[in-house]
Amino acid sequence: ARVDNPYAGATPYVNPDWSAKAAAEPGGAAVANEPSFVWMDRIAAIGGTPGARGLRAHLDTAVSQGADLFQVVVYNLPGRDCAALASNGELGPTELGRYKSDYIDPIADILADPAYASLRIVTLIEPDSLPNLVTNAGGTAGSTPECATMKANGNYEKGVGYALHTLGAIPNVYNYVDAAHHGWLGWDSNFVPAAAQFKKAATTEGATVSDVHGFIVNTANYSALREPHFKVTDSVNGTTVRQSRWVDWNYYVDELSFAQALRTELVRQGFAADLGMLVDTARNGWGGASRPTGPGLLTSADAYVDGGRTDRRIHAGNWCNQSGAGIGERPTTAPEPGIDAYVWAKPPGESDGSSRPVDNDEGKGFDRMCDPTYTGNGRNGYNLTGALPDSPVAGHWFSAQFRELLRNANPPL
Ligand code: BGC
Repeated sequence: ARVDNPYAGATPYVNPDWSAKAAAEPGGAAVANEPSFVWMDRIAAIGGTPGARGLRAHLDTAVSQGADLFQVVVYNLPGRDCAALASNGELGPTELGRYKSDYIDPIADILADPAYASLRIVTLIEPDSLPNLVTNAGGTAGSTPECATMKANGNYEKGVGYALHTLGAIPNVYNYVDAAHHGWLGWDSNFVPAAAQFKKAATTEGATVSDVHGFIVNTANYSALREPHFKVTDSVNGTTVRQSRWVDWNYYVDELSFAQALRTELVRQGFAADLGMLVDTARNGWGGASRPTGPGLLTSADAYVDGGRTDRRIHAGNWCNQSGAGIGERPTTAPEPGIDAYVWAKPPGESDGSSRPVDNDEGKGFDRMCDPTYTGNGRNGYNLTGALPDSPVAGHWFSAQFRELLRNANPPL
């Protein structure tokens, strides 16, 4: 039987492939033994690719490490990453059949092997996909034709439903569905519809809400866990901080408050009452010398928020290799009510995308949100991207970013 919180009392797997890269960097030894998720980001990743062992080899290594928890990202939907290009993926919009037979089924066969029955296996289901259906599939400034196609053909919902149902049939698997972050779904126009979208996918292709153990927020993103120097209920000279340029009418200013509120809404819409949330804290630390130590000036809502906010992005819609970011909370079990764990879903040091076009055979495109000279699109309010220069293809090691993440860690290392 599944336990309420798979992280409780568990020793998570440390991925030696990531660990070696981290340890080879100056100061990297301080984090090299932290657990992080293994990404099955294409069919070939299941068998293993140069520099990354396959799923079975990871699981075997986990068993030999004496670990009892294994974390894996399931990330290969048809028409993947419909509002961005950096992780476009290998399957075309209509290739649901291949997703099932060549990707999910082989993963399920491996996870169900009795050799791994002693591991609690946490799956992170398909980052960004369902949130893209909610906000980017028509009618808004950020919409793309590719997301409209995926909404119309239903293949994100069917793929997620199939993954939940198939993996959820394995007794030691704990499925957590990706739920974006506060700077994506925190507005009332998106929040309740997102929970409804998750419910719809979780009751498609044989899945039921019992196949969902929980949700994860902030996957591979940079939104702060807590903003210590202002609250969404604050106002300045009678102006609510919700009117500031940074908050822009959002109802949430950080991930902890967002995760806990979303949990309540998901339960209200029919998910399990004991649902657990995860927060990806790999790169949302925002420490270092530029971190504000107190609230901003009370001269205007903008001055107050901009002077006090620890998330120093140009815009909360910026997502690629963010300049100034730091490692966040180290993986922690049951840190707050409703939160199963702080986890490292995006292994620190792995690029979000290349800053220039780079030929590759991984299905990775060039997204100008990774180009520091680009002035943006409807999803980041036409702002500069804040991306670091000279970055490699998504998933490849980005030494300069890793070093900055170490320097700006908060809590400090
Ligand atoms: C990339 C994957 C990579 C993952 C973790 C994603 O953005 O598309 O290839 O495995 O990040 O670094």
